[in-house]
Formats: sequence, structure tokens, C-alpha cells
Amino acid sequence: MDIDKKIKIICVAGTRPEFIKVFPVYKKLLELQENNRSGHIFEIKWLNTCQHKDLTVDLENFFEIKPDFVFNLENMPDSQDLRLAALGTEILWQASQLFEEYKPDLVLIQGDTLSAQQCALAAFYLHIKVGHIEAGIRTNDINAPFPEELARRIISQVSILNFTPGKISQNTLEAEKIMYKSKSYNFYTGNTVVDTLDYSIKKIDNHTFSWQEYATVKQSFDNQEINLLEHLRQSKKYILVTAHRRENSEACKNLAKAIHRIATKFQGEIEFIISVHKNPNARVAFEELYGQCLQDKLHNIKFFEAVNYPLFLKLMANCFFIVTDSGGIQEEAPYLSKPVLIFRNETERTEGIEYGLARLIGTQEHMIHGCIMDLITDTSSYESMIKNDLQPYGDGLAASRIADVISLYFKK
Ligand code: UDP
Repeated sequence: MDIDKKIKIICVAGTRPEFIKVFPVYKKLLELQENNRSGHIFEIKWLNTCQHKDLTVDLENFFEIKPDFVFNLENMPDSQDLRLAALGTEILWQASQLFEEYKPDLVLIQGDTLSAQQCALAAFYLHIKVGHIEAGIRTNDINAPFPEELARRIISQVSILNFTPGKISQNTLEAEKIMYKSKSYNFYTGNTVVDTLDYSIKKIDNHTFSWQEYATVKQSFDNQEINLLEHLRQSKKYILVTAHRRENSEACKNLAKAIHRIATKFQGEIEFIISVHKNPNARVAFEELYGQCLQDKLHNIKFFEAVNYPLFLKLMANCFFIVTDSGGIQEEAPYLSKPVLIFRNETERTEGIEYGLARLIGTQEHMIHGCIMDLITDTSSYESMIKNDLQPYGDGLAASRIADVISLYFKK
């Protein structure tokens, strides 16, 4: 390879979890660009596909990222069923035009979003190399999570550099490599989510950003603003809840019923704080629950619109425990020593369960109710889920490893 040739890398992020997990790698790659120690001239760019435009503005501010490229994804259909195709087509087309013009040497994507999948495909069609952060995780059920399980599998077909978050994903990819005879390389790096947690908690502790900008959030359904930090100061013991997976839309009603029963029983003692996702299908159940709370004058369930990341970290750090169907939160909870109940029938993050830090509680009302009640009422069960010395998802050095591999790869 020509030593003077610029190595151009585009880091892709379009949704909240991608921003959070690509950020530390981008930061390390920028260091390569600046110090030139690798003997190569790197040019690192950030692409925001704007798949979740409103969820990424706060993240750009908090992480001080100015995207070099942004896509225009206005005027997408409201229908959730058509959205995937419409968004996917637009992202593929805009990514293809960008990659053709800019000619990156590597497109670095993360996870299993539509943005990641379509940017990987656009790069593949143009014979551009793809690197994949958080490669190789699987549930082996193509419908759960939907459509992410498909996205991951497609990406693995075209990605040359795979950065796996754990031993299980590393083994999965090694096994698939034999199946597809692909010329890809798999590196077990750990999950970058931990790198971002390290960075963000330092930033929060050192007060190097203004809480004022982040403390106020909107309550869902009545749209009133509230200072969440203030609320936290006065709050009782609270259970943090998030649910947004497409395949869980109906099951959210079961979750809502279980929460209603428990909140009614523990009024004045325990509060539920629910971060309500934009996904309209997942919102229905929580909106119904909100109506029921008004009717019953039940005040210990609070509903918030997507809480910005630093504030969400505060929410996690101070909560009693977490109930979620999120992938990222399953990984973050052990770092913050919080038990996590996984409101899903399957998970691709099995390490937390193996270590006893997470429980898969399914989507049936009686199971959700029983598992939440168990943690509330059985102290030894609760305490058995807190093991500060166990970190199943990474050691905070994943981004450095990924940047080192990329640097070496272009040296060869
Ligand atoms: N998160 C956040 N605000 C919220 C809920 C989640 O900042 O109100 C963060 C959370 O800390 C985690 C990420 O968003 O890092 C997870 O995103 P999400 O659950 O949307 O996606 P998934 O991880 O399931 O793909």
C-alpha cells in the first residue's frame, strides 16, 4: 500500500445506540488521524444517517461530535410496516451516492440497525471494505429482535473486519466463517459500550458539561416539562422501565398490567419510571396505562419521553433495578451494579444471565409480575444479582483494540 495515500474511514451512526457505541472508536481513530504514529495519514469522518434524528441531537452535544455528513430522511411514511422499506431504500441510495463520491477505504458500522445494514450494503456494492463493531451476536430467531437479527446476519456476510463483543459472538463468527468461506477477520475486542460508560461517567463526575441543558425532560402524554434531576432527589425507591422492540408491541400491554398491579400495591413506597420510546406501537400500551393512572389517581408511575443519555445514566445509577427489552441497557446495567430483568423471550446477550446479573422474564403478565415482585420482596434474591467484580461485557479498552486493528490492517 502506498504509504502517503490517505486512509479514509467513515464512521456510521444513525440511532441512539450506534452513537453511544461508535463514539469511543471514532475518538480513538481521530487520535490516529492527529498523531500520525501509525505511519499513515488517516482521514476520519462521521456520518449521521438521521434514522433517529431527534434522539441524536443531545448525543452530538454531549459527545461534542460534529457530523461531516448527514442524510435527509424527511417525509417517511407513518405506517410502521412501510417505514422499514422506505427508510432502507433512502439510506441505501444516499449512502451509495456519498460513498461513490467520497471513496472511503473503510466504512465502519455498528450493531444491527437499518442504517448499519444499508450502509454495509452500499459499501459492498461499491467494493468498499466494511468493518463491523459488535459483530456476531445472534438470537437464532430471525423474528426477534425484528428486524435486527436479519440485519446482523446480512452485515456479517459483507464485513471484512469484525469486532466481537464477547467470546460467544467470536465463536459464532468463527463457525459461520467456515460455512461461508469468507475472507473476513474476527477480533474479540469487548463491547465499546463500556468505553463510553467510562468516558461519560468521568464527564458527569467532573462536571465538564452543563446539567442545566440536560436536566429538564418532557413527560409523555401530558407533555409537561419536569426537572428530572430534582425529581430524582425527592424520589423514593424506583424501578426503571424501557420497552421499544417491535416484536414486543402487544406484550407491552402485559408489562403495563403487571406494573399497574405492583404500583397499586406499593403506593408511597415504590415508583416506576418509564422511558417511553417514539415507536408508536410500543407507546399504545403505556398511553393506556397513563389513562388508567389518571382514573385511579395512581401517582407512582411516571412516563418520560426518551431521556437524554447523561440523565439516563443517572436514572440507571440511582434506580432500584431495571426492567427492559433494550440491548444496550442489558449491557450497561451490570457496569452500574443494577439487576436487570429482560422483558423478552430471547436475548443475544446471554453473558449477563450466565453471571447471574440478569434474568430473562419473558413477556407474559404473570411472569413479569412474579419476577418484579421477587426482586422487591426477596432481599437475598435481589442481592444475588449484584456482583461488582463481574463485568461480562467489556473492560473499557475495546475502542483502543479496534483502532489498533484498523491501523495494523492498513499497514499490511
Ligand atoms: N438510553 C437513553 N435514554 C433513554 C433510554 C435509553 O439514553 O431514555 C440509552 C441507553 O443508556 C443505552 C441506549 O440508549 O445506551 C439503548 O438504546 P435502545 O434501547 O434504544 O436500543 P438498543 O440498545 O435496544 O438497540
